[in-house]
Amino acid sequence: MPANHYDTVIVGGAVVGSAVAYFLAENLDYTGTILVVEPDPTYALSSTTLSCASIRHQFSNPVNVELSLFGTEFLADFHNRVEVGGDSPDLCYRDTGYLFLATDSGWATLEANNRTQTACGADITLMDRAQLGRRFPYLAVNDLAGGSIGVTGEGTFDAFALMWGLRQRSRHNGVDYTTDRVVGLQVAETRVESVQLESGRAVNCNNLVNAAGPRCAHVAAMAGVDLPVEARKRSVFVFDVAEPAERDLPMIVDPSGIYLRSEPPYFLAGAPPVDDVSVDPDDLTVVHDEFDNLIWPVLAQRIPSFDRLKVTHSWAGHYAYNTLDQNAIVGPAHPTENLILANGFSGHGLQQAPGVGRAVAELITYGEYTSIDLSQLGFGRIVAGEPFPESAII
Ligand SMILES: Cc1cc2nc3c(=O)[nH]c(=O)nc-3n(C[C@H](O)[C@H](O)[C@H](O)COP(=O)(O)OP(=O)(O)OC[C@H]3O[C@@H](n4cnc5c(N)ncnc54)[C@H](O)[C@@H]3O)c2cc1C
Repeated sequence: MPANHYDTVIVGGAVVGSAVAYFLAENLDYTGTILVVEPDPTYALSSTTLSCASIRHQFSNPVNVELSLFGTEFLADFHNRVEVGGDSPDLCYRDTGYLFLATDSGWATLEANNRTQTACGADITLMDRAQLGRRFPYLAVNDLAGGSIGVTGEGTFDAFALMWGLRQRSRHNGVDYTTDRVVGLQVAETRVESVQLESGRAVNCNNLVNAAGPRCAHVAAMAGVDLPVEARKRSVFVFDVAEPAERDLPMIVDPSGIYLRSEPPYFLAGAPPVDDVSVDPDDLTVVHDEFDNLIWPVLAQRIPSFDRLKVTHSWAGHYAYNTLDQNAIVGPAHPTENLILANGFSGHGLQQAPGVGRAVAELITYGEYTSIDLSQLGFGRIVAGEPFPESAII
């Protein structure tokens, strides 16, 4: 007979939900029970699986830099942290770095961000145009003032492996995962008292964590909480190049917003859509025009040897897009204090999952943050309509 009460119920069991479960279950000070509700154990359509699976320290705000620095620390020690019986999924981590490019108008921002990043301990180097041209001879740099490159700690990995390792270890530590969907919440005054599942099962809880990705606003609305988070489509294209001047590219972020990196033996690219609107979370059709109209013209100009290429694969996923400031919303959904949000990550939630998972576990266990203080990412700024400033949004 399945239990009808858990101390903590987590809605959504992809990377963020599983990170919260993992850090709660690893913490000896937390003695409660944990249930993760996830309708799709294949995770085929989750943002986690459909992401570009990269981590960077190049943000403008110290909180985002610190979250990603912890992400790198976690990835570096992944096997020890998640192994069960000596086994862990292969992360396939590649320390490739991000290369942010800037024209004259963006150079002051890159310099200011570099000061913040290095003050936080990130290993990022600024290069002027001449240095850039020497280090990356395949790039056309005439229109650029320079760039900044992550020397260590930034790179790419297998997103599914990160999520699966967290899930596997959580289950080993006694966390229950159920294949079901949250369809309703029972709220009494300012507390979520129980969770209604699609199967008909009802589960009482002391804390409810919303980790429902692009569907988080729908879940929050069940408790009467208004979250400004929409599903926004992002198409990703994998392509082959006939005669590339270089096969080993970092994650290059062009001033146009277009990004590309190696995806051995191919390459991968994406673009911020021109018409960036809220979409149905079930709509995963690729917007093929984006490659022809937005990406290819920039690629052919920025890396001239990339003018002859062929798209081999493509997919679309959803950002859980926070319309206020494209940053995470973490913490209690005042006044519904026992509804804890871990939402709205837009394009950087994968790398923040370890840091946010740890932070939410601290909130639940101790009632406060004990490592990185995420108060600036709280729901209060949403209610006040005061954006959290972050200039390095992709
Ligand atoms: C194309 C693309 C590229 C990206 N690239 C990067 C990158 O390089 N680096 C990076 O850090 N981030 C990246 N991101 C962002 C990152 O993928 C997300 O921020 C992160 O995966 C969010 O994880 P999540 O667990 O919150 O959401 P998801 O992975 O979407 O998981 C949410 C889960 O909730 C479940 N769920 C939904 N509704 C319910 C319900 N009612 N009841 C129970 N469960 C429910 C879903 O089934 C799903 O499994 C990218 C995103 C996209 C789309």
